[in-house]
Amino acid sequence: MSHSPKKKVIIVGGGAAGFFTAINIAEKQPHLEVTILEKTSKLLSKVKVSGGGRCNVTNARQQPSELTPFYPRGGKKLYPVFKEFSTSDMVSWLSDRGVQTHTEADLRMFPITNSSQTIIDCFTSEAARLGVKVIQNCGVKHLEASENQWKLDTTQGIMLTDKLVMATGSTPSVWGLLGQLGLELVPPVPSLFTFNIKDPRISGLMGITFPEVNIRITGTKLEETGPLLITHWGLSGPAVLKLSAWGARELSEKGYHFQILVNYLGKRSNTDLRQWFDEQKQNHPKRRILNYPPGELTKRFWEQLCAYCDIPEQSAYGEISKKQVNKLTEELTQGLYEVKGKSTFKEEFVTSGGVNLSEVNLQTFEARRFPNLYLAGEVLDIDALTGGFNFQACWSAGWVISEHFQKSVNPSQSGNS
Ligand SMILES: Cc1cc2nc3c(=O)[nH]c(=O)nc-3n(C[C@H](O)[C@H](O)[C@H](O)COP(=O)(O)OP(=O)(O)OC[C@H]3O[C@@H](n4cnc5c(N)ncnc54)[C@H](O)[C@@H]3O)c2cc1C
Repeated sequence: MSHSPKKKVIIVGGGAAGFFTAINIAEKQPHLEVTILEKTSKLLSKVKVSGGGRCNVTNARQQPSELTPFYPRGGKKLYPVFKEFSTSDMVSWLSDRGVQTHTEADLRMFPITNSSQTIIDCFTSEAARLGVKVIQNCGVKHLEASENQWKLDTTQGIMLTDKLVMATGSTPSVWGLLGQLGLELVPPVPSLFTFNIKDPRISGLMGITFPEVNIRITGTKLEETGPLLITHWGLSGPAVLKLSAWGARELSEKGYHFQILVNYLGKRSNTDLRQWFDEQKQNHPKRRILNYPPGELTKRFWEQLCAYCDIPEQSAYGEISKKQVNKLTEELTQGLYEVKGKSTFKEEFVTSGGVNLSEVNLQTFEARRFPNLYLAGEVLDIDALTGGFNFQACWSAGWVISEHFQKSVNPSQSGNS
């Protein structure tokens, strides 16, 4: 009796999305021949450096409605995807394979070892256990549909596959190939970056943090509230990173040259602050201004701001003029800063843009107009804020693809390659 050859699945990209998709397909469909093609000599290289080497693997928020607001691109469309495989499913998936996780105060989750190598070891050993073939130094240079299969021209020769999963991350050359094929692309721009600002009010203050500031980008609707950090180059911290993600496209169009209004006291209004200064003037006229800042401001920042507002070092609240109150109020609640350029945040960045989500059926991650072609991970126009959400988009997509294969790929059909 002759055995028909196994049906083939090729996954292009040995990163987070590629490995997770491959493992789950191989687990659910042992009769399929699953192969990962990775163009470099390294596997899971971004996982390795992720989360500062600790891998912020997912987030403790569990409900799809809690997760979608963290995705500037993807958003609500990802709701059913997270319904099928959410962050808690990932935590269980890892736990079932011996990887325990822990949650930090801000709800980010890491392997309990605090080492990304734990995730890499888990994925590579699972892939090996399930017989996933991994071919390194094998880059895909061209792809085309050929009868009922996909034909790949790779650096190791021509390969044919019944099902093709593109999990190539933010690789411009692959977007080029997918564009040539006819898929619509959203032009890529960086997301998650810090703002370059040269300004005497913050120079020399790197390392100073603020628990809650409000930042608005003038001439736009972009506004965020959250912690802020002064860096060597300008401003960073969650409030800035969130703005960079939501404003990725708009700020790119501005050439990363724009103005921001900073309220160092969160949402405190200038009327409220002016009143506070008046109270100090009336009730505590002898209080030295430098020793009594309004709100949670560090001494160094407050001193530098007072100097900028021409307030002599020894001044007491009783001596402060109306003009000085107005100046301080303005600087604290709507300080105007000029942003000229961007920098990366701890080398962590993601790319906004990629294959337009309208091209993909998010119930299966199959391209609507190209049967048997699937896309997962950053190759798609999906990106998130920091917090483990970018990886979660990879895990959820990989799971959904594997479920779809389980339902749709008939084991009795033979591959004809
Ligand atoms: C420094 C840093 C830290 C990060 N930390 C976190 C974090 O802690 N938590 C989080 O959620 N997100 C984090 N991110 C984002 C996260 O790493 C990405 O969203 C995620 O890796 C995307 O996975 P992917 O599989 O789509 O792409 P990738 O991980 O980039 O994998 C794509 C793979 O495809 C390969 N490839 C490309 N072209 C070809 C080709 N033609 N043929 C064959 N192979 C090809 C590439 O070499 C690569 O190995 C971080 C990003 C960076 C840069």
